[in-house]
Amino acid sequence: MISILALAGSIAVSDQPVYRIDMPGPGDYESWVVDHQYSAELGGPVQIIAEGANGAKVVQEWPDISMLDSNVDGRFTYVAHYPKSLEVRSFTISVGDIGVRYEPIAFEQQGSYILPLAGNAIISNGVFNNNGHGWIRSRFAYDFLGLSDTYGPMTDPEYRNENLAGFGMDVIAPADGKVVFIEDRVPDQVGGYDSATFTFPDGSQAYHGNNVIIDHGNGEFTSLMHLKFGSVVVAVGDTVVQGHKVGELGNSGDSYGPHLHVQLQHCGEPQACPSLPLTFANHGDEILEAGDFITYRPLPSE
Ligand SMILES: [Zn+2]
Repeated sequence: MISILALAGSIAVSDQPVYRIDMPGPGDYESWVVDHQYSAELGGPVQIIAEGANGAKVVQEWPDISMLDSNVDGRFTYVAHYPKSLEVRSFTISVGDIGVRYEPIAFEQQGSYILPLAGNAIISNGVFNNNGHGWIRSRFAYDFLGLSDTYGPMTDPEYRNENLAGFGMDVIAPADGKVVFIEDRVPDQVGGYDSATFTFPDGSQAYHGNNVIIDHGNGEFTSLMHLKFGSVVVAVGDTVVQGHKVGELGNSGDSYGPHLHVQLQHCGEPQACPSLPLTFANHGDEILEAGDFITYRPLPSE
């Protein structure tokens, strides 16, 4: 967390990580994601300066902070896309007179993870700017739709959970670890979306539906969401081995059809800390794209 108590006109240097990822799609671009906090009382114009390796600068300005998207309670997420040729070395974000410089601490995934489904799939939602999730907490998440052995989405044309090829597909541990959170009380959505299905009597809501979170012991956790009601086969404190079943693909929580939402994160709680870029060792170690077909590759031991 950086201090906002900088003197007017000064520039503080943040120790927060700035996530850099190579984006899918055409163009030789890289993207940076910065979570910026500022003094909500001061407000004012916004200036963002990206400095490249060769002294080149890209300057963007807005007349008022309120014009930036995802600007809530003195915090916004700035997502920047720059040509790789710029070789961005830092950003300075100024709101009013107060600037914060972000050094390029590019994110590096610590663990080696395998795809979390024991079956074929297609990525229906990629990362934030690839048909993906807008919230900070899920911006690098993927949604997997399970497919049949012949890559079909349904086993019968009538639309119901049981006729979706992925419903009930085994969800497996992406790497060894320890289970630190489960939710298994949420019924699957049936016949349409209803938020009452994931709202508990105390008013709290389990957007994640039935959920298993695994601590991989390296500062990284994987969160596997929307699992089928009654399918979770692990408990908090259990040790899991890469490739072993933890539950089944379902349609619980904030879900509009059977799918698996997977994200990497830095904490073991649901909906509590931002997701991180995630790649899979058995799928090219690359950011997945919406529309990617996933072919199931069993572990040699299976
Ligand atoms: Zn999702």
